[in-house]
Amino acid sequence: MKIPWAVMIGFFAMADAVPAFGQGSPGPIAELERVRVSGAELDPLTRCGIGRFMSCDIKDAIAKGLFETGLAPRFPDRVKCREIDEAYAISYTHKRDREQYHGGIDIPAPTGTPIVAAAAGTVVGKYLGEQSFRGIEIVLRHSPEDTGIPLWIYTQYSHFSEMPKVEVGQRVRMGEVLGPTGNTGIGRHGRQSGKRRPAIHFGAFFSASERYADIRDRIIPVDGYWMDPVALFRKKIPLDSASMKALPAGEKEVPISVMFEDGKTFPADTKIVWPYACSRR
Ligand SMILES: [Zn+2]
Repeated sequence: MKIPWAVMIGFFAMADAVPAFGQGSPGPIAELERVRVSGAELDPLTRCGIGRFMSCDIKDAIAKGLFETGLAPRFPDRVKCREIDEAYAISYTHKRDREQYHGGIDIPAPTGTPIVAAAAGTVVGKYLGEQSFRGIEIVLRHSPEDTGIPLWIYTQYSHFSEMPKVEVGQRVRMGEVLGPTGNTGIGRHGRQSGKRRPAIHFGAFFSASERYADIRDRIIPVDGYWMDPVALFRKKIPLDSASMKALPAGEKEVPISVMFEDGKTFPADTKIVWPYACSRR
């Protein structure tokens, strides 16, 4: 019997869609393939506003929330945490030879200090960053269930001293060690200068859409926005930069949830922690 090609192709396509061995879940890699889009599917404002490519206008990034909010972290009493030395959206124009703003917060720590996942999530980006200001970098994607926040959140961890062992598609737990602090990333003249102080660059993005693109060493959420990473610790919406900037002064101090070196957290039921373990005084 002769089977028409169209029918055979249809059969193989169907066979592909059936999970192996009757497993109910498609697995993390298949899940990421389902929600990952090409760069061409991003709208131009999101592509430029989040991607900040050389051809892009900085106004797009500002329109997407890359401006100062006035938020400040407040660590729990009698707890010592590593602190921010360069805040969100401060001007980096002098560092970049063009108008630019800091796309996250920097927290200095000695070389080798473990950087931990701020929430449970899936590794979606892993970059060597040899031509990047951010150096060796990991990006996690967090579902609303992972954070308790009804949005898709992405957290970015940059300047590792060596390539983290976690792989794209891997799930990580809140507080799981991602890798060691370093100072990788090029300086303003395009070379790995080695002069940068060791620190984590910690960035965060959000979107109502579960989809994202991975283009030119950047994770760009579909319809995504910048956010002040400190806003993450509010653990609720709104967390967009305009709403954060408009908060009354008394609400601009955000209580920070932490993990201690023994793995315990404060508060005990938190789903979000500071990206370095803290210590009790
Ligand atoms: Zn930074």
